[in-house]
Amino acid sequence: MTQDKRKKIGVRTTCSAAKSKTCEHRAKKKRSATLLSLLDTEDELFNITGDSMSIDVREWLTVTFTRRKKQYKPEETANFRTIEYAVQTSASVERAFRTPTSPTGLAFPSEVTETFKDVDKWEFDVFALNEASQGHSLKYLMFVLFSKYNLLSQFKIPITCLISFASALELGYNKYQNPYHNAVHATDVTQTVHTILLHTGIMHWFTDLEILAIIFSTSIHDYEHTGTTNHFHVVTRSEAALLYNDNSVLENHHVSAVYHLIQNEEMNILVNLTTDEWR
Ligand SMILES: [Zn+2]
Repeated sequence: MTQDKRKKIGVRTTCSAAKSKTCEHRAKKKRSATLLSLLDTEDELFNITGDSMSIDVREWLTVTFTRRKKQYKPEETANFRTIEYAVQTSASVERAFRTPTSPTGLAFPSEVTETFKDVDKWEFDVFALNEASQGHSLKYLMFVLFSKYNLLSQFKIPITCLISFASALELGYNKYQNPYHNAVHATDVTQTVHTILLHTGIMHWFTDLEILAIIFSTSIHDYEHTGTTNHFHVVTRSEAALLYNDNSVLENHHVSAVYHLIQNEEMNILVNLTTDEWR
């Protein structure tokens, strides 16, 4: 690595709120990204001198991008998000939902529970879940991930709201009998993003609110997809194209329609967020 590169990595952030946790967090992420884009080999990672980056950034890079394992001391693990345990122990799902009806009222048939053993894996079989759940893959996956990431208690999400919301999403995804952009696709994308969050370790760099935003957005991202393109909407002058003035017609619809859904009190999973969090 050239001296110029080292200098670039060592440049301190000039963010005015450097003392705030969020700012520090973002600065770390930015610096890590800069560093990774500049490094050519794994060896170079270990040759970086102590004054070029903070210890925690170095540790994170080491653990995440190399095969080296770090042993955490008990006092260190306390700083990590609590979801680490739930996410990495897929057996917890089996334990929690072994009974046909969970305490929440959402029944977990044994076939469904069985498919969730692989929920933390890249090779998770979304079609098997869809079959086992009789077409309710999205509802079950949302329930499991919201539980695993501890979002239900973190954001005081009423479970009945989550179930109603997920059920409404499934109906919307199936509205146009779309053979691809349907509820199974939403489940697939959400579970895939979950494995990326988990196996890259990047989830430790997001706040709980950001995790909520990610799982929420992957779940809803193609809601009521018509199975046609934006261009089709524009040239056929569809209602949605007229409403959104030809701009990102479907994307505007997916998001807007979901926010209409959660206007309904029974489905408002964001009901207990603060105004700032909601924004
Ligand atoms: Zn999609």
